[in-house]
Amino acid sequence: MRKPLIAGNWKMFKTVQEATFYTKELRSLVKDIHDVLVVIAPPFTAIHACSEAARNSNIAVSAQNMFWEKQGAFTGEISAAMVKEAGAEYVIIGHSERRTLFGETDVTVNRKVLAAIAASLTPIVCIGETLEQRDRNETLDVIDRQIKGGLDSLTGDQVAALVIAYEPVWAIGTGRNATPAQAGEVHAHIRSRLRQWFGAPAAETCLVIYGGSVKPDNIQDHIAQPDVDGALVGGARLDVRAFQDIVVKSRPATV
Ligand code: PEP
Repeated sequence: MRKPLIAGNWKMFKTVQEATFYTKELRSLVKDIHDVLVVIAPPFTAIHACSEAARNSNIAVSAQNMFWEKQGAFTGEISAAMVKEAGAEYVIIGHSERRTLFGETDVTVNRKVLAAIAASLTPIVCIGETLEQRDRNETLDVIDRQIKGGLDSLTGDQVAALVIAYEPVWAIGTGRNATPAQAGEVHAHIRSRLRQWFGAPAAETCLVIYGGSVKPDNIQDHIAQPDVDGALVGGARLDVRAFQDIVVKSRPATV
């Protein structure tokens, strides 16, 4: 059985001081929850402080991005080994804001995924269609293209160990949630493609989480879908109690 994963994407919010405070508070709020994987993704500058604040707890830290090269003249970039050394265990790759604002493509996503795996980081690979693509009935084609491109040349074992976040772009930060049925349909499609392209063990083990205006009052409807294994949470992660509530409501016993 797959363990649910709830990840908070902090985006460009929180100073080191604020991040440390939040992490300590969350630590005490979720200390007895062992049936949900809890992940926080602070900005690069706070990864080390958050990792220290979460040391020996059930909270793991994620980076929000990284570069695929190991080192070199790449001003402003940070390597997989650097975020790993700072304490990250996960890294979000190909978030729609990276794709639309910073020109990331399935090719760059693939390079980053391979580099993350080589550095023993768990990639959280974001995929999802825009509103125009959904309206043109292209959702499943877009998903296929993003999985094929982003996971190109990965083995079944590597796919089994990663996390895919299905985030319809039109639902991110808009307050407009995909219905559980809409999300469930795409998640089932993702799972069937993983089975077809990477084998049944990979498809059964890979976590496929949903993202897009997830809040305490809608998480249970999403996680009740058989192929939804958790959530990537943007806006609602800023309030530590709302984030805790989402974690609690994702526990297998409550669904
Ligand atoms: C996100 O940024 O990945 C996200 C899902 O944001 P929100 O929850 O605010 O829609």
